[in-house]
Amino acid sequence: MKKALLLNAINPRIGGVLIKGEKGTAKSTAARVLAHLLPEREVVEGCIFGCVPIDIKGQCLDCQKSDTALKIKKARMRVVELPISATEDNRAGPLTL
Ligand SMILES: [Zn+2]
Repeated sequence: MKKALLLNAINPRIGGVLIKGEKGTAKSTAARVLAHLLPEREVVEGCIFGCVPIDIKGQCLDCQKSDTALKIKKARMRVVELPISATEDNRAGPLTL
């Protein structure tokens, strides 16, 4: 599990880590601790999706259509728990046109 989490932190294109195990074996704790060890990232302040300021094409419509300069803030990586049936499409985020 440790190696899988580290490899995913190094290369997120791996697509995630499925952690399986008995209840009470610190699966969630290991993932949350890793999130605290990762460097902070820049996000658009006030955006509910946490858009990346320099990735204009990947931003949500609210950020793309903002009339004012986007304010930037530092944010920690988030740990997102998905149901076992979640697909790549389910976690892709907002559609961009
Ligand atoms: Zn946004």
